[in-house]
Amino acid sequence: MKLNEIGEFGFINRFKSHFDHLVQERVMGIGDDCSILPADEVSDWLVTTDMLMEGVHFLRDAISPLELGAKSLAVNLSDIAAMGGTPIGSFLSIAIPANVDVEYLDEVMKGYHSLSETYATPLLGGDTTRSLQHLAINVCVVGKCPRGKAKLRSSAKVGDLVCVSGNLGDSAAGLQVILGQHPLNHEMRYLVDRHHQPIPQIGVGLLLGATPEVHAMMDISDGIASDLLHILKASGCSATVDLDRIPRSSELRTVALQQGWDTYALAVGGGEDYELLLTVDPSHFMAINTMLCNNGISPLTNIGTIREGTPSIEWYLNGELANFSKGGFNHFMQ
Ligand code: ADP
Ligand code: MG
Repeated sequence: MKLNEIGEFGFINRFKSHFDHLVQERVMGIGDDCSILPADEVSDWLVTTDMLMEGVHFLRDAISPLELGAKSLAVNLSDIAAMGGTPIGSFLSIAIPANVDVEYLDEVMKGYHSLSETYATPLLGGDTTRSLQHLAINVCVVGKCPRGKAKLRSSAKVGDLVCVSGNLGDSAAGLQVILGQHPLNHEMRYLVDRHHQPIPQIGVGLLLGATPEVHAMMDISDGIASDLLHILKASGCSATVDLDRIPRSSELRTVALQQGWDTYALAVGGGEDYELLLTVDPSHFMAINTMLCNNGISPLTNIGTIREGTPSIEWYLNGELANFSKGGFNHFMQ
């Protein structure tokens, strides 16, 4: 059997349960953005790891080494943000082929260091090895959150509003621009930057993490068609989403119009926006947005509602039920 027959999650599900009995009380293992381990009386540790593989996650010709270094840390910080946590430190493992120069690696580390400074997250260790062909970067980030307060994928409640931070689809459109090798206009440059320079939503995550009326939360790495399903499966409910309410940047709309691209497909099926996807008690939605605005942060957008039912998403476009078949990006089943 080939991996593309069962996909990334099919593979994980083949071995996950074999480890369950080894997982100690108060430890949460595989299945959320981070694993959770008890730290002390008042806090929990959060641990996450993510790998960027040349040819799969980045093209060495397209992304600058500065951006690559920063992105490899950013995507991990995003998982800490998804739990409502504070990053504490990182570990960096890197496999380097012979055709990568030290000057290139210095730039990678400059980008990594710059983001480490921004989020006060020191590099605490790692591993360095040769690679026969491709550059591979694996990062692990450790974070902390108040004990028992990490935001989980499994906490959505029927009646919750489905909300997102920021705009969706920019990163996927940026990738389309890169792959299409278009000469870049201003809007295309913006989209490519959104793909190469994701911003981990640590500040928003912390504020939302401290808000009890925020129930389930995760970051958007694969596109909401796939990511929202993770929340629905973990919480045992279904959802309706209004496609026309999904926030899309003016740059995305402009380029999509020029190129004949479907902004809904990019916003829903494309990945790597690294914004937050969350479910919120409807009676507190306004108050949460006021709180975010008071902290200088853009408001959340309500894109749908959590419903009773088996895990599935009903998509609506201008009030009409819409057929949306393209799932989120799955590394082994494209
Ligand atoms: P994310 O996109 O938030 O980084 P993933 O979709 O990559 O999460 O992974 C889903 C869950 O599966 C996470 O809890 C992750 O830790 C776990 N996971 C992924 N790959 C493996 C693996 N090879 N071994 C153990 N756990 C894994
Ligand atoms: Mg995640």
